[in-house]
Amino acid sequence: MKIGIVGTGMVGSAAGYAMALLGVGTDIVLVDANHALARAQAQDISHATPFATTIGIHAGDYSDLEGAAVVIIAAGISQKPGEDRLALLERNVEVFRSVISGVMTAAPEAILLIASNPLDVMTFAAQRISGLPPERVIGSGTILDTARLRSLLGDHLGIAPNSVHAYVLGEHGDSEVPVWSSAMAGSVPIVSFAKQIGRPLDEAARTSIAAQVKGAAYTIIEGKGATWYGIGAGLACIVRAIIDDERAVLSVSQVTAEIEGVKDIALSLPRIVGREGIIATLMPDLDETERAALKHSAEVISGFSSKLRF
Ligand code: ADP
Repeated sequence: MKIGIVGTGMVGSAAGYAMALLGVGTDIVLVDANHALARAQAQDISHATPFATTIGIHAGDYSDLEGAAVVIIAAGISQKPGEDRLALLERNVEVFRSVISGVMTAAPEAILLIASNPLDVMTFAAQRISGLPPERVIGSGTILDTARLRSLLGDHLGIAPNSVHAYVLGEHGDSEVPVWSSAMAGSVPIVSFAKQIGRPLDEAARTSIAAQVKGAAYTIIEGKGATWYGIGAGLACIVRAIIDDERAVLSVSQVTAEIEGVKDIALSLPRIVGREGIIATLMPDLDETERAALKHSAEVISGFSSKLRF
């Protein structure tokens, strides 16, 4: 199955690399305004495949996306010195206008998977610009924040992260919301599990873990300038859930009619992902604090997306 990636900088190329090593899809097409970069990335990644899979990976232009089942959009431009977030956002929306028009002409049946930041606002922009039904425009959202939360909880409890069922919801950004009240370890509520094994998950432990999840991107950026491997693997996981019709429950972003009284924004909730895109959205049980935090997160996103004109 053909998968496209538009924008082959650090995030787009890491997604291509992860898919090549994991064997997601059969044919990956890389498109970038910088053709030389796309060609170099395709060549470099294709030299890794003999060690792993038989996936074909090559550079192309928009017309080569024809027949793609999923197109990842990781294109974007970085902040100019002194530029505010809204100005940057408007410039990135312009990038999306040209990218999405190219993708939709070549591959009108493709599901769009958005990876450009600010993630939720760009997911909203992609849905508005493409005119696709919201369930066919998926933002990578908090998939990585959720993975970081599970990994830290796994360390704290001394269990495998895939035995931790917990989600980070809301914005992929500073207002994100780790949900404790419905989190489980195995089939046991996580706070009770922690108490039973003598590694309590008290207020202090929860605050520390939440801060580490939220601060992870900043810490990585401080050390290496940007983050790409984690999100690259997360994008590969979402593409696999789509093309294999896995119906995996993932915390991903989608334009949502209303959440906690805030209308028409994209944000992450646990959603069932399969061949048709997002098949259903689940609302976890939240306590009062989490509900208020989710409302605040929705308001933060709305503060930006409501200023954009389409
Ligand atoms: P990130 O770390 O988010 O991957 P990068 O700056 O490394 O950010 O990558 C963004 C990529 O998007 C760059 O390779 C850039 O050439 C590409 N890009 C920017 N504008 C466009 C566009 N209009 N069409 C296609 N690709 C674009």
